[in-house]
Amino acid sequence: MNSIRGLLQNRKPLVTVSADLMVFAAIERMAGADVGAVLVLDDAGSIVGIFTERDCLQKVSSKKLDPTTTPLRQVMTTNVRYAKPEHSVEACLRLMTERYFRHLPVLDEQGKILGIISIGDLVKARLTEQEFVIGQMEHYIADSLPVQR
Ligand code: AMP
Repeated sequence: MNSIRGLLQNRKPLVTVSADLMVFAAIERMAGADVGAVLVLDDAGSIVGIFTERDCLQKVSSKKLDPTTTPLRQVMTTNVRYAKPEHSVEACLRLMTERYFRHLPVLDEQGKILGIISIGDLVKARLTEQEFVIGQMEHYIADSLPVQR
């Protein structure tokens, strides 16, 4: 099974912020980097939360909170699930679909943050893998057919 290690190259920049940052500033950082999620770190660099586009809608806009005075710590998700580089594309897709989220930080054995993968990255990898297998099977079938004279 394909691991997610290969998906960590050529990524969009990883955006990390502090829990004291206001939502509006976080949105500016997300828009500037063209990403849908930021990781919230404490002073020691450990993950304390994640804040995504969905949180902007569900926890800020729809609650009529003021993004310029609401700190991330009030609206971020604190129990952040993550993956390791050796985890398979399928396992990560399963976790995301079961838990209804679309972003997954990837940490190495030492707890170093390697990046965030999105559900789009995983679906693309899965499709590429399936296309490869189908191509192999088509070749196999074509080679097995008796030659027409
Ligand atoms: P998303 O679909 O990724 O925009 O996120 C949907 C909800 O799940 C939001 O409340 C996020 O804060 C939360 N969320 C996103 N990614 C994770 C994650 N890896 N672990 C825990 N919660 C997450």
